[in-house]
Amino acid sequence: MYLYNSATHKKELFTPNSPEMVKMYTCGPTVYHFAHIGNLRTYIMEDVLEKTLRYMGYPVKRVMNITDVGHLASDADTGEDKMLKGAKRENKSVMEIAQYYTDAFFADCDKLNIKKPDVIEPATGCIPEFIQIVEGLLEKGFAYVAGGNVYFDTSKLERYYVFNDHDEEDLAIGVREGVEEDTNKRNKNDFVLWFTKSKFEDQALKWDSPWGVGYPGWHIECSGISLKHLGGDLDIHCGGIDNAFPHHTNEIAQSESYLGHKWCNYWFHVHHLNTDTGKMSKSKGEFLTVSLLEQKGYDPMAYRLFCLQSHYRRNLVFSWENLDNAVVAYDKLIAKIAALQNTGDVDMEAFQALKDRFVNALNADLNTAVAVTAVYDVLKAKTNDATKLAALKDFDQVLSLNLLEAAQKLQKKQVEEAAASADPEIDALVAARTEAKKAKNFAEADRIRDELKARGIEIIDTPQGTKWRKV
Ligand code: AMP
Ligand code: ZN
Repeated sequence: MYLYNSATHKKELFTPNSPEMVKMYTCGPTVYHFAHIGNLRTYIMEDVLEKTLRYMGYPVKRVMNITDVGHLASDADTGEDKMLKGAKRENKSVMEIAQYYTDAFFADCDKLNIKKPDVIEPATGCIPEFIQIVEGLLEKGFAYVAGGNVYFDTSKLERYYVFNDHDEEDLAIGVREGVEEDTNKRNKNDFVLWFTKSKFEDQALKWDSPWGVGYPGWHIECSGISLKHLGGDLDIHCGGIDNAFPHHTNEIAQSESYLGHKWCNYWFHVHHLNTDTGKMSKSKGEFLTVSLLEQKGYDPMAYRLFCLQSHYRRNLVFSWENLDNAVVAYDKLIAKIAALQNTGDVDMEAFQALKDRFVNALNADLNTAVAVTAVYDVLKAKTNDATKLAALKDFDQVLSLNLLEAAQKLQKKQVEEAAASADPEIDALVAARTEAKKAKNFAEADRIRDELKARGIEIIDTPQGTKWRKV
């Protein structure tokens, strides 16, 4: 499988350190508010990546953090803790907010068929591990204490900007937002590993440390949680593109300095979901959630299809019109699948040819847009329905669009609707008309048609026989 690696700026053949286990880390949500559908685009694409790896036969161990402390309003370590902001907004405690929005996040993931990671770890559960890394960095001379905080010293690195093929403007957004200069920093890009002093003294959660009572910086959380559960040889690290700088850049700086060797081989970044006014973001306050889509009558599966129809390394523009198009596409797809009959044997040769197209699309840097067209290829293929259904079931292990389940539901609905509108008297009249036509008694056939019409019944002659419906 070829994947674009942000660290090398190239598409590379994905080769895990060990075929026994792909070690995958994904930055989790900051649980001070609902996840918006932009965040969820990133989690959908990461879900597809994990499922693709499993589909290709790799066992995967996937770890995700829950950021429940230390993520300040600006990614450049200034401003108030986002969790505290959430707690104040809702007049609740930080831990109440964390629990509520963590549950809401996984409920949204469930609706979008995003699998739960194997390990989910809140940052507040790993404080001793973070302290140990910070101590190690101080011992090795990669960190310093200033003004009560511990900082990472970026001047000690040969290379700090590892993802510098990204648009500098894009990279700078998180840093610029509400930036205030921190005079403790020796270098512009130095970042906080441990806070004991911040302008916001009302920080709710604090822990004892060798440097005083305080709390961890945001970046150390992901390094610490990843090292704890996946060790020092990570295969693949994922996140949204806004995480590339400074978050992931800082994760690499501190993890590799602590370990003394290369840490992670592949970096997978999902580009943004934008609206016509720019990036969808929680801090702007106005954003769309899965629940809101549902309230408006949208099936979350249509949103998942909308995301899959575009490549993860392109910005995706959300508009209601675009989502409506995805709804139409999804409904048509399901109706076509519902019309398939599961009879006959699977033609293994035809199945393999269809599967090859699907696999090739995923192998080409997770091209889900082409993988979705492979679904349409199945429906158009010159093979029996059993083979088509087998291929669709197989593909849906990765796509997770409920293809067969939704089709079965539709079939059931169609049967129920037909039963609800059954009427033996009308059936008898329709049969009598068919007989009259067969006997070339067209006058009688027309009379029956007119009678039915007067009773509000429309006759439809199809190759499968005559059907009727109430108009
Ligand atoms: P947060 O909860 O803010 O820490 O973000 C959770 C994930 O969503 C991170 O991986 C972000 O990079 C990603 N993300 C944030 N905004 C967007 C967006 N508009 N489109 C796609 N991903 C995003
Ligand atoms: Zn992270």
